[in-house]
Amino acid sequence: MTVITRFAPSPTGRLHVGNIRTALHNWLFAQKNGGRFMLRIDDTDAERSEERHVESIRADLTWLGLIPADEVRQSARFALYQRRFDELVAAGRIYPAYESAQELDLKRKIQLGRGLPPVYDRAALDLSDADRAKLEADGVRPHWRFRLDHAAPITWHDLIRGEQHFDPATMSDPVVCRADGSWLYMLPSVIDDIDLGISHVVRGEDHVSNTALQIQMFDALGAAPPAFAHEALLTGSEGKLSKRLGSVGVDQFREAGIEPQAIRALLARLGTSDPVEPVGDVAPLVAGFDFARFGRAPARFDEAELAQLNARIVHYLSYEAVATRLPAAMGAAAWEAVRPNLATVAEAADWWQVIEGPVDAPAAGEDADYLAEAAAVAATIDWAGDPWHALAAALKDKTGRKGKPLFLPLRRALTGRDHGPDMAALLPLIGRDRALARLARS
Ligand code: GLU
Repeated sequence: MTVITRFAPSPTGRLHVGNIRTALHNWLFAQKNGGRFMLRIDDTDAERSEERHVESIRADLTWLGLIPADEVRQSARFALYQRRFDELVAAGRIYPAYESAQELDLKRKIQLGRGLPPVYDRAALDLSDADRAKLEADGVRPHWRFRLDHAAPITWHDLIRGEQHFDPATMSDPVVCRADGSWLYMLPSVIDDIDLGISHVVRGEDHVSNTALQIQMFDALGAAPPAFAHEALLTGSEGKLSKRLGSVGVDQFREAGIEPQAIRALLARLGTSDPVEPVGDVAPLVAGFDFARFGRAPARFDEAELAQLNARIVHYLSYEAVATRLPAAMGAAAWEAVRPNLATVAEAADWWQVIEGPVDAPAAGEDADYLAEAAAVAATIDWAGDPWHALAAALKDKTGRKGKPLFLPLRRALTGRDHGPDMAALLPLIGRDRALARLARS
Protein backbone atom coordinates (compact mmCIF):
# COMPACT_ATOMS: atom_id res chain seq x y z
CA MET A 1 0.00 0.00 0.00
CA THR A 2 1.27 3.47 -0.84
CA VAL A 3 1.13 5.72 2.17
CA ILE A 4 -0.47 9.05 1.31
CA THR A 5 -1.19 11.54 4.07
CA ARG A 6 -2.69 14.97 3.90
CA PHE A 7 -2.62 18.08 6.01
CA ALA A 8 -5.92 19.88 5.56
CA PRO A 9 -5.98 23.32 7.13
CA SER A 10 -8.80 25.79 6.59
CA PRO A 11 -7.25 29.06 5.45
CA THR A 12 -9.14 31.12 7.99
CA GLY A 13 -6.08 32.11 10.00
CA ARG A 14 -2.41 31.39 10.55
CA LEU A 15 -1.17 27.94 11.47
CA HIS A 16 -0.72 27.54 15.20
CA VAL A 17 1.37 25.13 17.16
CA GLY A 18 -1.40 22.51 17.25
CA ASN A 19 -1.80 22.32 13.51
CA ILE A 20 1.94 22.61 12.93
CA ARG A 21 2.19 19.44 14.99
CA THR A 22 -0.49 17.75 12.90
CA ALA A 23 1.30 18.77 9.69
CA LEU A 24 4.60 17.48 11.06
CA HIS A 25 3.16 14.11 12.03
CA ASN A 26 1.53 13.69 8.63
CA TRP A 27 4.85 14.53 7.03
CA LEU A 28 6.93 12.29 9.30
CA PHE A 29 4.62 9.33 8.79
CA ALA A 30 4.73 9.73 5.01
CA GLN A 31 8.54 10.03 5.08
CA LYS A 32 8.92 7.01 7.28
CA ASN A 33 6.87 4.88 4.90
CA GLY A 34 8.31 6.22 1.67
CA GLY A 35 4.95 7.80 0.98
CA ARG A 36 3.57 11.15 -0.08
CA PHE A 37 2.51 14.10 2.02
CA MET A 38 -0.13 16.38 0.53
CA LEU A 39 -1.48 19.78 1.38
CA ARG A 40 -5.24 20.14 1.04
CA ILE A 41 -6.56 23.65 1.42
CA ASP A 42 -10.03 23.35 2.99
CA ASP A 43 -11.49 26.50 1.52
CA THR A 44 -15.11 25.50 0.98
CA ASP A 45 -16.15 28.41 3.18
CA ALA A 46 -15.62 31.28 0.75
CA GLU A 47 -16.47 33.90 3.32
CA ARG A 48 -13.97 32.89 5.96
CA SER A 49 -11.16 31.67 3.69
CA GLU A 50 -8.54 34.20 2.69
CA GLU A 51 -5.84 34.04 0.07
CA ARG A 52 -3.28 35.62 2.37
CA HIS A 53 -3.76 32.72 4.80
CA VAL A 54 -3.25 30.20 1.99
CA GLU A 55 0.03 31.94 1.24
CA SER A 56 1.12 32.01 4.85
CA ILE A 57 0.29 28.32 5.27
CA ARG A 58 2.56 27.51 2.31
CA ALA A 59 5.29 29.80 3.61
CA ASP A 60 5.08 28.36 7.12
CA LEU A 61 5.30 24.78 5.83
CA THR A 62 8.29 25.71 3.70
CA TRP A 63 10.03 27.34 6.65
CA LEU A 64 9.35 24.25 8.75
CA GLY A 65 10.79 22.04 6.00
CA LEU A 66 7.50 20.22 5.50
CA ILE A 67 7.21 20.44 1.75
CA PRO A 68 4.08 18.86 0.31
CA ALA A 69 4.42 16.66 -2.76
CA ASP A 70 1.16 18.09 -4.02
CA GLU A 71 -1.47 20.69 -3.20
CA VAL A 72 -5.20 20.65 -3.88
CA ARG A 73 -7.85 23.19 -3.07
CA GLN A 74 -11.36 22.20 -2.18
CA SER A 75 -12.77 25.28 -3.86
CA ALA A 76 -11.58 23.87 -7.20
CA ARG A 77 -13.30 20.54 -6.65
CA PHE A 78 -16.98 21.43 -6.28
CA ALA A 79 -17.97 19.56 -9.46
CA LEU A 80 -16.59 16.34 -7.99
CA TYR A 81 -18.45 16.92 -4.71
CA GLN A 82 -21.67 17.56 -6.60
CA ARG A 83 -21.32 14.39 -8.63
CA ARG A 84 -20.77 12.19 -5.60
CA PHE A 85 -23.48 14.05 -3.68
CA ASP A 86 -25.95 13.34 -6.48
CA GLU A 87 -25.07 9.64 -6.32
CA LEU A 88 -25.80 9.58 -2.61
CA VAL A 89 -29.10 11.42 -3.11
CA ALA A 90 -30.08 8.90 -5.78
CA ALA A 91 -29.13 6.05 -3.42
CA GLY A 92 -31.27 7.54 -0.66
CA ARG A 93 -28.28 8.23 1.59
CA ILE A 94 -28.70 11.99 1.42
CA TYR A 95 -32.08 13.61 1.92
CA PRO A 96 -33.45 17.13 1.95
CA ALA A 97 -34.55 18.67 5.24
CA TYR A 98 -36.47 21.89 5.58
CA GLU A 99 -36.34 22.85 9.25
CA SER A 100 -35.10 26.31 10.04
CA ALA A 101 -32.31 26.84 12.55
CA GLN A 102 -34.91 28.06 15.05
CA GLU A 103 -37.06 24.96 14.62
CA LEU A 104 -34.06 22.70 15.10
CA ASP A 105 -33.06 24.64 18.16
CA LEU A 106 -36.53 24.28 19.63
CA LYS A 107 -36.52 20.53 18.96
CA ARG A 108 -33.20 20.22 20.75
CA LYS A 109 -34.46 22.19 23.74
CA ILE A 110 -37.55 20.01 24.04
CA GLN A 111 -35.45 16.82 23.87
CA LEU A 112 -33.03 18.13 26.46
CA GLY A 113 -35.95 19.20 28.65
CA ARG A 114 -37.19 15.61 28.57
CA GLY A 115 -33.76 14.31 29.41
CA LEU A 116 -33.26 12.92 25.90
CA PRO A 117 -30.11 13.30 23.80
CA PRO A 118 -30.55 16.09 21.24
CA VAL A 119 -30.46 13.83 18.18
CA TYR A 120 -32.16 14.94 14.98
CA ASP A 121 -35.55 13.17 14.77
CA ARG A 122 -35.50 12.63 11.01
CA ALA A 123 -38.85 14.33 10.60
CA ALA A 124 -37.78 15.27 7.08
CA LEU A 125 -37.80 11.59 6.08
CA ASP A 126 -41.53 11.47 6.78
CA LEU A 127 -42.36 14.23 4.32
CA SER A 128 -44.35 13.15 1.27
CA ASP A 129 -43.56 14.35 -2.22
CA ALA A 130 -46.53 16.69 -1.89
CA ASP A 131 -45.21 18.11 1.43
CA ARG A 132 -41.85 18.80 -0.16
CA ALA A 133 -43.42 20.33 -3.24
CA LYS A 134 -45.45 22.64 -1.02
CA LEU A 135 -42.42 23.71 1.01
CA GLU A 136 -40.45 24.42 -2.14
CA ALA A 137 -43.40 26.32 -3.63
CA ASP A 138 -43.37 28.41 -0.45
CA GLY A 139 -39.74 29.23 -1.18
CA VAL A 140 -38.21 27.04 1.53
CA ARG A 141 -34.86 25.76 0.32
CA PRO A 142 -33.72 22.47 1.84
CA HIS A 143 -30.44 21.69 3.48
CA TRP A 144 -29.19 18.16 3.01
CA ARG A 145 -28.45 15.46 5.55
CA PHE A 146 -26.51 12.26 5.27
CA ARG A 147 -28.66 9.36 6.47
CA LEU A 148 -26.69 7.25 8.89
CA ASP A 149 -27.26 3.52 8.75
CA HIS A 150 -28.47 2.75 12.25
CA ALA A 151 -28.04 -0.95 11.64
CA ALA A 152 -24.31 -0.67 10.99
CA PRO A 153 -22.31 -0.14 14.19
CA ILE A 154 -19.28 2.06 13.64
CA THR A 155 -15.90 0.73 14.68
CA TRP A 156 -12.31 1.37 13.75
CA HIS A 157 -8.92 0.67 15.14
CA ASP A 158 -7.41 4.05 15.78
CA LEU A 159 -3.62 4.03 15.51
CA ILE A 160 -3.40 6.13 18.68
CA ARG A 161 -6.65 5.58 20.55
CA GLY A 162 -7.11 1.86 19.88
CA GLU A 163 -10.53 0.30 19.30
CA GLN A 164 -13.29 2.86 18.80
CA HIS A 165 -17.02 2.12 18.85
CA PHE A 166 -19.92 4.42 18.08
CA ASP A 167 -23.62 3.66 17.88
CA PRO A 168 -24.99 5.56 14.85
CA ALA A 169 -28.46 5.56 16.37
CA THR A 170 -27.22 7.99 19.01
CA MET A 171 -25.97 10.47 16.41
CA SER A 172 -27.75 13.06 14.30
CA ASP A 173 -27.70 12.65 10.55
CA PRO A 174 -25.06 15.24 9.70
CA VAL A 175 -25.86 18.18 7.45
CA VAL A 176 -23.55 18.00 4.46
CA CYS A 177 -24.81 20.84 2.30
CA ARG A 178 -26.46 24.08 3.40
CA ALA A 179 -29.65 25.56 2.00
CA ASP A 180 -27.57 28.08 0.05
CA GLY A 181 -25.73 25.22 -1.66
CA SER A 182 -22.48 25.67 0.26
CA TRP A 183 -20.61 22.57 1.48
CA LEU A 184 -19.89 21.73 5.05
CA TYR A 185 -16.53 20.18 5.84
CA MET A 186 -17.71 16.63 6.40
CA LEU A 187 -18.58 15.13 3.00
CA PRO A 188 -16.06 16.93 0.75
CA SER A 189 -13.31 15.73 3.06
CA VAL A 190 -14.38 12.11 2.56
CA ILE A 191 -14.78 12.56 -1.20
CA ASP A 192 -11.27 14.02 -1.37
CA ASP A 193 -9.75 11.34 0.81
CA ILE A 194 -11.19 8.73 -1.58
CA ASP A 195 -10.27 10.61 -4.75
CA LEU A 196 -6.72 11.36 -3.62
CA GLY A 197 -6.11 7.84 -2.32
CA ILE A 198 -5.38 9.02 1.22
CA SER A 199 -4.22 5.99 3.18
CA HIS A 200 -3.91 7.58 6.63
CA VAL A 201 -5.86 10.44 8.15
CA VAL A 202 -3.86 12.00 10.96
CA ARG A 203 -5.60 14.75 12.87
CA GLY A 204 -6.56 16.00 16.30
CA GLU A 205 -8.90 14.08 18.57
CA ASP A 206 -11.44 16.87 18.23
CA HIS A 207 -12.31 15.06 14.98
CA VAL A 208 -13.08 11.66 16.52
CA SER A 209 -16.85 12.01 16.33
CA ASN A 210 -16.55 13.36 12.77
CA THR A 211 -14.62 10.22 11.90
CA ALA A 212 -17.47 8.05 13.16
CA LEU A 213 -19.83 9.81 10.76
CA GLN A 214 -17.32 9.88 7.94
CA ILE A 215 -16.70 6.13 8.15
CA GLN A 216 -20.29 5.60 7.05
CA MET A 217 -19.78 8.11 4.24
CA PHE A 218 -16.78 6.16 2.94
CA ASP A 219 -18.93 3.06 3.02
CA ALA A 220 -21.86 4.74 1.28
CA LEU A 221 -19.47 5.96 -1.44
CA GLY A 222 -18.20 2.41 -1.95
CA ALA A 223 -14.72 3.00 -0.54
CA ALA A 224 -12.81 1.40 2.30
CA PRO A 225 -12.04 4.04 4.91
CA PRO A 226 -8.40 5.03 5.41
CA ALA A 227 -6.58 4.30 8.65
CA PHE A 228 -7.07 6.95 11.32
CA ALA A 229 -4.79 8.37 13.97
CA HIS A 230 -6.34 10.92 16.31
CA GLU A 231 -3.86 12.76 18.40
CA ALA A 232 -4.39 14.01 21.91
CA LEU A 233 -4.57 17.78 21.93
CA LEU A 234 -1.84 20.07 23.16
CA THR A 235 -2.19 22.01 26.34
CA GLY A 236 -0.26 25.05 27.50
CA SER A 237 2.51 24.77 30.05
CA GLU A 238 0.00 25.40 32.83
CA GLY A 239 -1.72 22.19 31.80
CA LYS A 240 -4.87 23.77 30.45
CA LEU A 241 -6.06 24.24 26.92
CA SER A 242 -4.80 27.74 26.61
CA LYS A 243 -6.03 30.49 24.35
CA ARG A 244 -2.50 31.61 23.83
CA LEU A 245 -1.56 28.28 22.28
CA GLY A 246 -4.10 28.89 19.56
CA SER A 247 -2.23 31.99 18.50
CA VAL A 248 1.38 30.84 18.78
CA GLY A 249 2.63 30.22 15.29
CA VAL A 250 5.60 30.48 13.00
CA ASP A 251 5.77 34.28 13.24
CA GLN A 252 6.12 34.18 17.01
CA PHE A 253 8.67 31.40 16.80
CA ARG A 254 10.76 33.29 14.26
CA GLU A 255 10.57 36.44 16.29
CA ALA A 256 11.77 34.57 19.36
CA GLY A 257 14.69 33.16 17.37
CA ILE A 258 13.34 29.62 17.38
CA GLU A 259 14.75 27.43 14.62
CA PRO A 260 12.50 25.10 12.60
CA GLN A 261 14.71 22.21 13.73
CA ALA A 262 13.76 22.91 17.36
CA ILE A 263 10.06 22.96 16.57
CA ARG A 264 10.35 19.70 14.68
CA ALA A 265 12.43 18.03 17.37
CA LEU A 266 9.98 19.02 20.10
CA LEU A 267 6.71 18.42 18.30
CA ALA A 268 7.83 15.06 16.89
CA ARG A 269 8.23 13.69 20.40
CA LEU A 270 5.81 15.67 22.55
CA GLY A 271 3.08 13.32 23.73
CA THR A 272 5.32 10.25 23.51
CA SER A 273 7.44 8.78 26.26
CA ASP A 274 10.53 9.20 24.07
CA PRO A 275 13.03 11.85 25.13
CA VAL A 276 13.06 15.18 23.32
CA GLU A 277 16.55 15.53 21.90
CA PRO A 278 18.33 18.39 20.13
CA VAL A 279 18.42 16.76 16.74
CA GLY A 280 18.90 19.13 13.86
CA ASP A 281 18.52 16.48 11.21
CA VAL A 282 15.10 15.03 10.45
CA ALA A 283 16.37 11.49 9.81
CA PRO A 284 16.24 10.34 13.46
CA LEU A 285 12.81 11.93 13.89
CA VAL A 286 11.53 10.10 10.84
CA ALA A 287 13.12 6.82 11.94
CA GLY A 288 11.66 7.04 15.45
CA PHE A 289 8.18 8.15 14.43
CA ASP A 290 5.49 5.68 15.42
CA PHE A 291 1.85 6.35 16.38
CA ALA A 292 2.10 3.56 18.93
CA ARG A 293 4.49 5.79 20.92
CA PHE A 294 1.82 8.44 21.46
CA GLY A 295 -0.31 8.43 24.56
CA ARG A 296 -3.90 9.50 24.95
CA ALA A 297 -3.23 12.14 27.58
CA PRO A 298 -2.99 15.74 26.40
CA ALA A 299 0.58 16.71 25.61
CA ARG A 300 1.99 19.76 27.32
CA PHE A 301 3.63 22.36 25.11
CA ASP A 302 6.06 24.46 27.10
CA GLU A 303 7.64 27.47 25.42
CA ALA A 304 10.51 27.43 27.91
CA GLU A 305 11.30 23.84 26.92
CA LEU A 306 11.26 24.89 23.27
CA ALA A 307 13.65 27.78 23.99
CA GLN A 308 16.08 25.45 25.79
CA LEU A 309 15.95 22.90 23.01
CA ASN A 310 16.48 25.69 20.51
CA ALA A 311 19.67 26.82 22.27
CA ARG A 312 21.01 23.28 22.19
CA ILE A 313 20.28 23.06 18.48
CA VAL A 314 21.86 26.45 17.76
CA HIS A 315 25.06 25.10 19.34
CA TYR A 316 25.30 22.56 16.51
CA LEU A 317 24.34 24.73 13.54
CA SER A 318 27.02 25.01 10.90
CA TYR A 319 28.27 28.34 9.63
CA GLU A 320 26.82 27.55 6.20
CA ALA A 321 23.39 27.05 7.75
CA VAL A 322 23.35 30.49 9.36
CA ALA A 323 25.74 32.65 7.30
CA THR A 324 23.02 34.74 5.66
CA ARG A 325 21.62 35.67 9.06
CA LEU A 326 24.92 36.86 10.54
CA PRO A 327 26.53 40.30 10.31
CA ALA A 328 28.09 40.52 6.85
CA ALA A 329 31.72 40.42 7.99
CA MET A 330 31.26 37.63 10.52
CA GLY A 331 33.11 34.53 9.34
CA ALA A 332 33.08 30.86 10.24
CA ALA A 333 35.69 31.18 13.00
CA ALA A 334 33.68 33.89 14.76
CA TRP A 335 30.48 31.86 14.44
CA GLU A 336 32.16 28.80 15.89
CA ALA A 337 33.68 30.83 18.72
CA VAL A 338 30.40 32.35 19.89
CA ARG A 339 27.97 29.55 18.98
CA PRO A 340 28.21 27.69 22.33
CA ASN A 341 27.01 30.81 24.14
CA LEU A 342 23.96 31.52 22.05
CA ALA A 343 20.30 30.93 22.77
CA THR A 344 19.39 32.22 19.32
CA VAL A 345 21.28 32.85 16.09
CA ALA A 346 20.42 36.56 16.31
CA GLU A 347 22.49 36.86 19.48
CA ALA A 348 25.60 36.20 17.41
CA ALA A 349 25.43 39.86 16.36
CA ASP A 350 25.99 40.94 19.98
CA TRP A 351 29.18 38.94 20.16
CA TRP A 352 30.28 40.20 16.78
CA GLN A 353 29.91 43.67 18.25
CA VAL A 354 32.09 42.57 21.19
CA ILE A 355 34.71 41.29 18.77
CA GLU A 356 34.67 44.37 16.56
CA GLY A 357 34.18 46.85 19.37
CA PRO A 358 33.99 49.37 20.69
CA VAL A 359 33.27 47.72 24.02
CA ASP A 360 32.61 49.54 27.25
CA ALA A 361 35.01 48.16 29.80
CA PRO A 362 34.03 48.28 33.45
CA ALA A 363 36.37 50.34 35.65
CA ALA A 364 39.55 48.36 36.33
CA GLY A 365 39.74 49.52 39.96
CA GLU A 366 42.44 47.63 41.81
CA ASP A 367 43.24 45.60 38.68
CA ALA A 368 44.54 48.69 36.87
CA ASP A 369 48.21 47.82 37.38
CA TYR A 370 47.62 44.23 36.45
CA LEU A 371 45.93 45.26 33.21
CA ALA A 372 48.74 47.70 32.38
CA GLU A 373 51.11 44.81 32.79
CA ALA A 374 48.85 42.65 30.62
CA ALA A 375 48.94 45.28 27.89
CA ALA A 376 52.74 45.26 27.97
CA VAL A 377 52.91 41.46 27.89
CA ALA A 378 50.32 41.26 25.13
CA ALA A 379 52.58 43.33 22.92
CA THR A 380 55.31 40.68 23.17
CA ILE A 381 53.45 37.40 22.68
CA ASP A 382 53.03 35.43 19.47
CA TRP A 383 49.61 36.40 18.07
CA ALA A 384 49.73 33.87 15.28
CA GLY A 385 49.38 30.86 17.57
CA ASP A 386 47.25 30.73 20.69
CA PRO A 387 47.51 34.26 22.10
CA TRP A 388 45.14 33.68 25.01
CA HIS A 389 47.14 30.83 26.53
CA ALA A 390 50.37 32.62 25.75
CA LEU A 391 49.13 35.77 27.48
CA ALA A 392 47.75 33.91 30.49
CA ALA A 393 50.91 31.83 30.93
CA ALA A 394 53.17 34.87 30.74
CA LEU A 395 51.01 36.85 33.17
CA LYS A 396 50.83 33.93 35.57
CA ASP A 397 54.65 33.79 35.65
CA LYS A 398 54.98 37.52 36.06
CA THR A 399 52.30 38.19 38.64
CA GLY A 400 51.76 34.89 40.41
CA ARG A 401 48.02 35.26 39.80
CA LYS A 402 45.98 32.24 38.88
CA GLY A 403 42.37 31.24 38.40
CA LYS A 404 39.75 33.94 38.52
CA PRO A 405 42.04 36.88 39.49
CA LEU A 406 44.21 35.98 36.53
CA PHE A 407 41.42 35.59 33.96
CA LEU A 408 38.43 37.69 34.95
CA PRO A 409 40.07 41.19 34.71
CA LEU A 410 41.32 40.23 31.26
CA ARG A 411 37.92 39.05 30.09
CA ARG A 412 36.28 42.21 31.42
CA ALA A 413 38.78 44.53 29.79
CA LEU A 414 38.73 42.64 26.50
CA THR A 415 35.00 42.01 26.16
CA GLY A 416 33.30 44.35 28.62
CA ARG A 417 31.55 41.36 30.15
CA ASP A 418 32.03 38.85 32.94
CA HIS A 419 30.91 35.84 30.93
CA GLY A 420 31.03 34.75 27.36
CA PRO A 421 32.61 32.50 24.81
CA ASP A 422 35.93 30.78 25.41
CA MET A 423 38.59 33.51 25.41
CA ALA A 424 40.99 31.23 23.53
CA ALA A 425 38.58 31.33 20.59
CA LEU A 426 37.62 34.98 21.00
CA LEU A 427 41.01 36.64 21.43
CA PRO A 428 42.43 35.82 17.98
CA LEU A 429 39.24 37.31 16.53
CA ILE A 430 39.57 40.48 18.59
CA GLY A 431 43.14 40.56 17.33
CA ARG A 432 46.30 42.21 18.54
CA ASP A 433 45.55 45.87 17.92
CA ARG A 434 42.12 45.96 19.47
CA ALA A 435 43.23 43.78 22.37
CA LEU A 436 46.21 46.01 23.17
CA ALA A 437 44.03 49.10 23.06
CA ARG A 438 41.38 47.55 25.32
CA LEU A 439 43.97 46.41 27.88
CA ALA A 440 45.93 49.63 27.81
CA ARG A 441 43.01 52.01 28.37
CA SER A 442 42.33 50.63 31.86
N1 GLU B 1 -10.06 21.49 7.72
C1 GLU B 1 -10.21 20.54 8.80
C2 GLU B 1 -9.57 21.13 10.04
O1 GLU B 1 -8.72 22.00 9.91
C3 GLU B 1 -9.52 19.25 8.38
C4 GLU B 1 -9.69 18.13 9.29
C5 GLU B 1 -9.14 16.87 8.66
O2 GLU B 1 -7.93 16.65 8.75
O3 GLU B 1 -9.93 16.13 8.06
O4 GLU B 1 -9.92 20.79 11.13
